[in-house]
Amino acid sequence: MGRTLTVSHAAWASIVAHARHDAPLECCGLLVGDDHRVATAVAAANADASPVRYTIDPKAYLRASREARASGLDVIGAYHSHPTSAAQPSATDLAEGVGAPFVYVIAGPVLQHGEPSLRAWEILAGRFVEVRLERDDAPGQ
Ligand SMILES: [Zn+2]
Repeated sequence: MGRTLTVSHAAWASIVAHARHDAPLECCGLLVGDDHRVATAVAAANADASPVRYTIDPKAYLRASREARASGLDVIGAYHSHPTSAAQPSATDLAEGVGAPFVYVIAGPVLQHGEPSLRAWEILAGRFVEVRLERDDAPGQ
């Protein structure tokens, strides 16, 4: 089995809110934390402004990385949304992804009733392997 990542209540909520706000386009952002926990989700503009793909601005990455390191954390991955499809990686996600331990969190499908699923993946030996996500339900963290 793969590893497990805990996601702070605030990070989970902000990914869902960002995904809904940007639908029907894909949203994207960066995950700040450590090997075990996503502490914050930092929203970034989708340079592609597309319903089926995303590109995170390299400057947003550098800024988030600098701020994360200042608080003893790191950018451990990225998130994006699938407005109409499930939270499973696409062929594009694989083609453009980097290998583990970088984590990809996907929210989807966004354009449906109810809350989109959040699932996480990392690329090992050229294919996506799921990372278990646990939401930290203590608010305000
Ligand atoms: Zn995708």
